[in-house]
Amino acid sequence: MKTTAAGARESPVITIRNAAAAAKITVHKLRGNVSVLEGSGGNITVLTGRDGKLLVDAGISRPQVEHALARLSDDPVKHLINSHWHFDHTDGNEWLHSIGAEITAHENTRKHLSVTTRIEDWNFTFPPAPAGALPAKLITADETLHLNGTTLALKCYGPSHTDSDISVEFTEANIIDVADTFWNGHYPFIDYSTGGSIDGMIRAAKANVANANDETIVIPGHGPIANKSHLIDFRDMLLAIREKVANLKKKGKSLDEAVAAKPTADYDAKWGGFVIDGSFFTRLVYAGV
Ligand SMILES: [Zn+2]
Repeated sequence: MKTTAAGARESPVITIRNAAAAAKITVHKLRGNVSVLEGSGGNITVLTGRDGKLLVDAGISRPQVEHALARLSDDPVKHLINSHWHFDHTDGNEWLHSIGAEITAHENTRKHLSVTTRIEDWNFTFPPAPAGALPAKLITADETLHLNGTTLALKCYGPSHTDSDISVEFTEANIIDVADTFWNGHYPFIDYSTGGSIDGMIRAAKANVANANDETIVIPGHGPIANKSHLIDFRDMLLAIREKVANLKKKGKSLDEAVAAKPTADYDAKWGGFVIDGSFFTRLVYAGV
């Protein structure tokens, strides 16, 4: 974490919100009428068409996202799916709702957004979200939608990154948005405060590999557009580090001793360059083994 001038640790929430306010959005056109906007918090997936735009995740910063959406097509935004409750995927809920988007999410997303929620690992307390930001259409089990000539298969992971994660598959285009169960090229955050765990992350990573084939385009919550081989790399990284950290804990190493042993050393160059470095990730894994 960065340190502020006053010497206090700056919450990654502040760092990420500030970065999003200044960020440029990159638009990636994928297959069919599916695109991804990268640069405002988590990746935003957009399906365009006559039924209005459908977004998976809302990003953070309105001006850049609004501009990028307008450049994609003239369709109004009608639907927003939140992949989970985290701010970098839901900060944009309120403004998107105000222009006409109906918000769909797992019922736990609404639950966490409705109340004050503390994430100790981010050193941050989220106040309850405004009423307009709360998802109105709630799911607790897998559901299939049909919009813009596309089949959308929504699947609930069960507890993994949080207890509110869902994936969205665009069936005909063979594209799947796997949300924050996959950070392409980065160690992931694991939110134990709302039901996440390393073992849940591993279960989700295995499910993602099983659901993809060699032609599948995979949209991660964070990082560049991916394919099945990237899902396999990520799963294998999680499994290897889990084993190393579990062995240290079994030998009686304290959290600080486990971090000092650098169990992620072989992986840090590839995975440790974003919000979660090797020490932070070791702490997250240690909490769950
Ligand atoms: Zn998240």
